[in-house]
Amino acid sequence: MNLLTDSLKDEIRECYSRFLTSRAFNARYCQRLMIAEVARQLCETRNEATETYPLALIEAGTGTGKTVAYVIAALPVARSRGKRLVISTATIALQEQLVFRDLPDIQSNSDMEFSWALAKGRRRYVCLSRLDALLQEGASGNQALRFFEDEFASPGEEDLVVYQEMISKLASGEWNGDRDSYTETVADPSWRKISTDRSQCTHRQCSYFRNCAFYRAREKLIDADVLVANHDLLLADVASGGGNVLPEPADCMLILDEAHHLTEKARSQFSAAVSLNMAMTHLETAMTLSQQLEVSLQAVDLLPQLPGFSQLEQLTDRCTDGGELLAELRLLLNQFYEKAIPSGRQSRFRFPCGKVSASLIEQGQSMARLYGSIIQLLELWHGELERAMPTADLAQRTALESWIPSLGGLIARLVQAQRLWDLFTQEERPDLPPRARWIDFSEDDLIVHCSPISVAETLADSLWSAFEGVIMTSATLSVGGDFSLIRDELGLPLQVRRVSLPSPFDYADQGQLRIPEMQSDPGKPAEHNQEIAILIPELLAEKQSGLVLFTSWRQMQFVISEMQEPFRSLIICQGELTKSDMLDKHRQHIDSGAPSYLFGLASFAEGVDLPGDYCCQVIIAKIPFTVPDDPVGATLYEWIDANGGNSFEQVMVPTAALRLTQAAGRLLRTEQDRGIVTILDSRLRSRRYGQQLIRALPPFTLVAPG
Ligand code: SF4
Repeated sequence: MNLLTDSLKDEIRECYSRFLTSRAFNARYCQRLMIAEVARQLCETRNEATETYPLALIEAGTGTGKTVAYVIAALPVARSRGKRLVISTATIALQEQLVFRDLPDIQSNSDMEFSWALAKGRRRYVCLSRLDALLQEGASGNQALRFFEDEFASPGEEDLVVYQEMISKLASGEWNGDRDSYTETVADPSWRKISTDRSQCTHRQCSYFRNCAFYRAREKLIDADVLVANHDLLLADVASGGGNVLPEPADCMLILDEAHHLTEKARSQFSAAVSLNMAMTHLETAMTLSQQLEVSLQAVDLLPQLPGFSQLEQLTDRCTDGGELLAELRLLLNQFYEKAIPSGRQSRFRFPCGKVSASLIEQGQSMARLYGSIIQLLELWHGELERAMPTADLAQRTALESWIPSLGGLIARLVQAQRLWDLFTQEERPDLPPRARWIDFSEDDLIVHCSPISVAETLADSLWSAFEGVIMTSATLSVGGDFSLIRDELGLPLQVRRVSLPSPFDYADQGQLRIPEMQSDPGKPAEHNQEIAILIPELLAEKQSGLVLFTSWRQMQFVISEMQEPFRSLIICQGELTKSDMLDKHRQHIDSGAPSYLFGLASFAEGVDLPGDYCCQVIIAKIPFTVPDDPVGATLYEWIDANGGNSFEQVMVPTAALRLTQAAGRLLRTEQDRGIVTILDSRLRSRRYGQQLIRALPPFTLVAPG
C-alpha cells in the first residue's frame, strides 16, 4: 500500500512550481522524476513480517538537481508522518554546502517553512574547558592531561598565540567554536589539543557547559525539521545504539546522499586496530595515573568519599598481568613476521580467510577479559568522581575537572583495545563473511587489525529496518544500470526499488571516448608507465585544460619525473598544494588564458567540479582495479571464491567499472560542456571484461584509436 495522498502530491507540486518560478528555471525531466520517486518510495508502507521497508536506490547524474528534488519531495512526506528528515552526506564540506547554500536557497524560493541544523561530531568543536586549561597552564601543560602524548602533548608558543586569538574571538562573538568556521586553517595536532570526545567530556558537570560550542550546536538539533549529518556521524550514532546525537531512527526519514561512500565508511566504523607498543604504554599509564590521582584526591581531601579507590592495588596487579599477556602476544604475533610482505615502510601479514590459530584466539580472549576487568575498576572510579562533582568545593572541583577527562580518555583507549581483541578472536558463522585480520609490522612495533569485509548485516539491522524510510542517492550507484554490487554490499533486500534516472546530458554529442592503441601491458607497470609518460604530454597538448587520474602515487611521480620543461610547469600535481588550492590555481591559470593540467589520484575522481573550459579532457592512466595489498579486499575475494563465486567477475570488475564511471564523470558538468575522455589501458580492447567496462561508461561517442 502507498500512503502518498493527492493532497501531499499537490503540496509537493506547488512547492516545486514556486521554486522553479522564483528561480526562473524550467522544469527538468530527471528532477521531476526524482521528486516523484522520492515521494512515492518514502510513502510505501512497512511490513515487518516480510521485511519490506520504504527503501530506494536512486542514481541521478550531474545536472539533475538532486538536492532540490529530495528536499522538496521528502520534507512534506516526513512532516505528514510526524517524522524528521535526516540528510547524511559523505563529507563536512558537502554538509556545509547543504546548510549554507542549498537549504536556504530552497527555503527562500519554494516558500516552504522549515528549520535545519548541522550535526557534526564533538571533535569539530572547540572544548572550552581544554582551551582554557591550556591557556592558563601554558607550555607547562596540565599534570592530569599529560598522560596521552598522542593527544595532550604540551602546546608550543605558536599554538598558544592561536589559542589566545580563539578565546578573544569566542568572547567577542566573532567565532562560534566550530572548527570549520574558523577564519584560519588549524593544523590537526593543534586542534586535537583543544577538542575532546565523548569519553573525556564532563557534560553537564563541566564549568563551561552553558557556553560549550558543541552543546550549543546540539541544542539546535532538538527542534530542527531537517538535520544535516555526515555518514561517519550517522554510523557512529547507530553503532552506539542510535538516538545519541541524532533523533531515534524510528522518528526519522533518511536521505543518504553520496551513498556510494557508505560501504567504505561503514567498514572503517566497524573495524578496530591496536598498536602493541601503545597498548603497553596505556597499561603503564593506568598504573601511573591511578597513583597520581590518589595523591591528588588526597590533597583536596576527597579520598574518604570515594570507596572504590581502596582497590588501587588490584589495578596495579591487573595491569602487571596485562603487560605479561601482551608480551606473550607479541611473541606469538612475531612468528608471522617471516611471512609478512613488504608494504610501503612496513610489512604486512594477512591471515588467509581471516582465520586465526587456536593459541592466538586463546591468548587474545584472555587479553580481552583482562581489559574488561581493568575497565570495570576504572569505570567505578570515574563514576565516583562524577558523583562527587556537585558537592565539591572549588579546589576539589578543579582537581576533578582535570582528572575526569584523563580517566575517561584512558578508559576509551582501553575499550578500543578490548574491542580489537574481542573482534579478533570472535567465532564466526561459517555461512557469513569472515572479518579480515592482519598485522602491520614496523621497525619496533606491530599493529593488529580487524575489519569486517561485509557490512550488509550490520546496516540491515541498524539502518534499513530502523529508519522510517531511506532514500540512497548518488551519481554512480550502478554498473550500466545493474545495482547488484551496491545492493549486496549494503545488505539491501533483493527487491529494493532501484532507479537510474536519465541524464540531462547528451553524452554522444557532448563527449568522446578514446582508447589508444598501446604497446605495453598494464600488468607490467614499468613498461606501461614508460609508455604513458610519452603519451600523456602529447594528449594534454591537444587541449588547454585537462585532468589526469593515476592509480598510484608511484605511477604519477614517474610520469612527472619524465616530463620536460616548460611543459612540466603547466602541471599542478596532487601533494604540492591542498585540493582546493590546486583547483583555485588551475582556474586562475585557465582564466588568464594559460594552459593548465591537474594530476591526481583517486580522490580527484570525485568532488572535482570543473565546468566548461576548466576541463576539456580527462585522461585515465589505468583501469582502477583494487590494489592487491588491500587486506579487506583480498579476504573478501578469498571468501567469495571459496564459496563457489568468482570474485573477479562479481566484485573486482564491477568496482573498477564504478570507479571508471566516476572518473569519466569529471568531464561533463553542464549541458554546454564538450570534451574527451582517454583511457590508457589496452585491456579495455583485449580482455573480455573490457567491453563490460566500456558499456558501463556514459554513452560517449567512441572515437577511432589514435
Ligand atoms: S561540556 Fe565537554 S566539550 Fe563542552 S567545554 Fe565542557 S568538557 Fe569541553
